[in-house]
Amino acid sequence: MYKTHDKCRICRGKNLKQFLDLGAMPPANSFLKEKDLAEKELKFPLRVLFCEDCGLSQLGEVVDPDILFKNYVYLSSGMPKKFSDHFKDYADEMVGRFIKSKEDLVVEIGSNDGILLSAFKNSARILGVDPAENIAKIANEKGIETIADYFSEKLAGGIAGKYGRAKIIAGNNVIMHINDYDDLFKGIKALLADDGVFVFEAPYMRDMFDNFAFDTVYHEHLSYLTARPFTKLFSRFGMEIFDIKEFPVHGVSLRICAGNIGKHQILPSVAEYLKSEKDMGLDKFEAYLELAEKISVIKKNVLSAIVDLKKNGKNIAVYGAPAKGNTLLNYLGAGRDIFDYAVDDLPSKIGSYTPGTRIPVISSEKARKNPPDYYLLLAWNYKDVILEKEKEFRQKGGKFIIFIPELEII
Ligand SMILES: [Zn+2]
Repeated sequence: MYKTHDKCRICRGKNLKQFLDLGAMPPANSFLKEKDLAEKELKFPLRVLFCEDCGLSQLGEVVDPDILFKNYVYLSSGMPKKFSDHFKDYADEMVGRFIKSKEDLVVEIGSNDGILLSAFKNSARILGVDPAENIAKIANEKGIETIADYFSEKLAGGIAGKYGRAKIIAGNNVIMHINDYDDLFKGIKALLADDGVFVFEAPYMRDMFDNFAFDTVYHEHLSYLTARPFTKLFSRFGMEIFDIKEFPVHGVSLRICAGNIGKHQILPSVAEYLKSEKDMGLDKFEAYLELAEKISVIKKNVLSAIVDLKKNGKNIAVYGAPAKGNTLLNYLGAGRDIFDYAVDDLPSKIGSYTPGTRIPVISSEKARKNPPDYYLLLAWNYKDVILEKEKEFRQKGGKFIIFIPELEII
C-alpha cells in the first residue's frame, strides 16, 4: 500500500536525508463517513527527506495513488471567489501570450472539475485529464471533456494521436503529487507542440521557511517545489524553464513556464528565483534542520495553548477542514478530546469526520447556534475572508487561534 522512497525522484541520487518526521497519519483527504467510524483507518508514515545532490525535498513514503486520488473530495470550484478570479486571470494571460488560434489545444493534467479549463473554453480547444472518476464525471457533465485516468506517456501519446499536439499543457497543484517524473515528462514531450508551453503551479516551499506552513506536508504532496531541482529535471528532457512568477494562493504558489530548449526567451525571473533560493541556503541541508526545529516549537506552543484553554473550561472548535488541517491535527494528536467540531461549508465535507482525529464537520450556520469560545484556524490561507465572515462571533468575545506563522490569539 506504500513504498519507502530511496532514490531521488529528479536526479535518482541516493543521498536522501530526513529532516522532518510528522508521525504516522491517515491520508489528509480521507474524511470519514459515519459508517466508517467503526473501521480502523489506514495510516502511513509522513516523513520529508532532502536530496543532497539536487536539492529536492520529497516524502520518505509513497502511498498507492489509488488510495489517495480515486475518490477525491476536493472540488476546485467550491473554493472562494478569489480563486476563480485567479484562474480567469491565469487563462487570460496564457491565451494572450501563447494561444494563436481557436484550434490550439490546451490540456490540463489533474483538471479537477474544470475550473481552469472553463476559463480557456472560448479561446482554444480544451481537454482535461483527472484520475478521480467522481470528479471527471462532474466535469464532463458541465461540458468540460475530461478523461478519467492518470496522465502517463501512454495516455499522452493517445491524446496526441486523437486531438493533435498541445500548445499548452497545464498542471495546477498536481505536479508535486506525481511519483514517476520520467513517465510524466516523456508524456509531456509526446504531447507538447514543439513551441508549446508546459505551465505548472504549486505551493512554493519558500513559504515553509517564511511562514512555517508545514501543514502543506501530506501524503499527496510527494515533492516540495523549489526552482533549482526543477531546472535539472527539465534539462534531462531537453526542456528549460523560461519564466517564474509567484501568486498568493495556498500561501505562496509559483507558476513555472517551461518549453523545449531554445523555443522561448528566458526571462530574468528565472535567474532571480535561483539566486534568492541560494541566498536563503535552500541548497543546504542545515536550512531544513532549522526549519524542522521551528516546526517542533510551533507544535509545542499550540498544544500548550489549547491544553491550557481546555483546562480553564473553554470550548474549542476548529475552523475549516482543509486537507492540510489534518496534518496539523494529527501531528498535534488532538481530536475530539479537545475540539468539539470542525466548521466547513463544503457540502462534500459537512457530516463527515476528520481523518485520524475524527472531529465532526458541521456547517458555519449550524456552528453559529452553538459557538465555541475559541476557534483554531486551520484554513489560515482564508484568514481575512473568515475573520470578516465571523465578525459577529468576534464581536461577542469569540477568539481565533492562529498558528501560522506563529501562535497568535485574536
Ligand atoms: Zn536529487
